[in-house]
Amino acid sequence: MNVLPTLIMLFYLSGQVLLLPNFCFANDKLTTKTNCGVDQYNKEFLAEHPHLKPTENEAYKMLQKRQNINYKNNSATYTIPMVVHIVHNYGYENISNSAVTDGIIDLNDGMRANTQNNGFIHPDFDSLKTDTKIEFVLAKFDPDGNPTNGIVRHQSRFFTENGSKAGMRFEYHWPRNKYLNLYIVRQPFANSNSSGFATFPYLVNEPDKAYLDGIVLAYWAFGRHNFLYNEWYYMIAHEVGHWLNLYHIWGPDEQLCDEDDGIEDTPNTIGNTLPERSACINTSFQCNSLDNIANHMDYATPCQAMFTTGQTNRMYTTLNSSVSERSNLHSPENLELTLGITNEQVCEDDILDLSNTIITENIAANSTIITNGIVPNTYSITLNAQDSIKLKSGFKVETGASFKAYNEPCTDP
Ligand SMILES: [Zn+2]
Repeated sequence: MNVLPTLIMLFYLSGQVLLLPNFCFANDKLTTKTNCGVDQYNKEFLAEHPHLKPTENEAYKMLQKRQNINYKNNSATYTIPMVVHIVHNYGYENISNSAVTDGIIDLNDGMRANTQNNGFIHPDFDSLKTDTKIEFVLAKFDPDGNPTNGIVRHQSRFFTENGSKAGMRFEYHWPRNKYLNLYIVRQPFANSNSSGFATFPYLVNEPDKAYLDGIVLAYWAFGRHNFLYNEWYYMIAHEVGHWLNLYHIWGPDEQLCDEDDGIEDTPNTIGNTLPERSACINTSFQCNSLDNIANHMDYATPCQAMFTTGQTNRMYTTLNSSVSERSNLHSPENLELTLGITNEQVCEDDILDLSNTIITENIAANSTIITNGIVPNTYSITLNAQDSIKLKSGFKVETGASFKAYNEPCTDP
């Protein structure tokens, strides 16, 4: 008997068997991944719903109207409850709870300019780096009021391979006026390797499209786990940017110089795209200006570090708008329902609700002057002063706006 070929064969077979999981792992990591697929999603969506094009879309116009208001001195933190749906077929996409919580830490670090990537920011853009004070928290109560950890697992072989299908969100969504819905799947689009997409608020404002609202991401682009591809830690902040009405920094369509995102402090670019730009060299110069490659809304995923002041203002506009019910998400009532933050904790009793009121005289002595301006009718503003509050004569809250001020110190929930 010739032993050698048998041994070689045995070695070969055992090697195949033993190496199989590693082979899958390696293969999964090395498959070409492509960037955010929001343009693909929007294109298909607008083809189906042509009346929602920005030129004809009232919700879009409402959001554009107030973009120039500067919130740079905003002192409030926006807390947004969220639910993470893991849509899986027992594969890599069925990521652990700790991967999810780590992913949300990364999201909040991205929103609050607290990433490990600050070193990639070119000095020219450093002063524009903005702490958005927008934070996301996993739900503690589900839509029926039952306790939850904010992570829901759904087994579906079909949907995990086709994450952009409307049917998935129809089946699994929680009310969008109470939670941001994030869906983790194996493959957001059946026909591409895109990392995922988010819905722009003006595209899903109509009540019959509310269930579509949210973000869909591939498992390899969210959370810290073994299959996370090429440091996509902060991709979720990019998608939240879209969800709060930010375009890519080159604008809504093709990656060309002939249009931009409509925000003054984000230089136009054709984009810095993986994998070619993954070294985070921040001297890229396109469309006659230096690129801000560390901007969350570029495609240079491993370099993501910042939102600008202009982008933050646009996100605030969205959060304070009724478009797609964004303004309800961070209301004290909703934070109590979804996170169990009680009225007492947010000093509800101390709220002065001044809606539809024109203040004609100072309302407190020994105080901090907030503003003598006008709260426009698209806004809901909450101030949490550590001292008593004084409003200058002439301060006005337009009909339809909500203005609330805490007049005693509050303990942060
Ligand atoms: Zn994108």
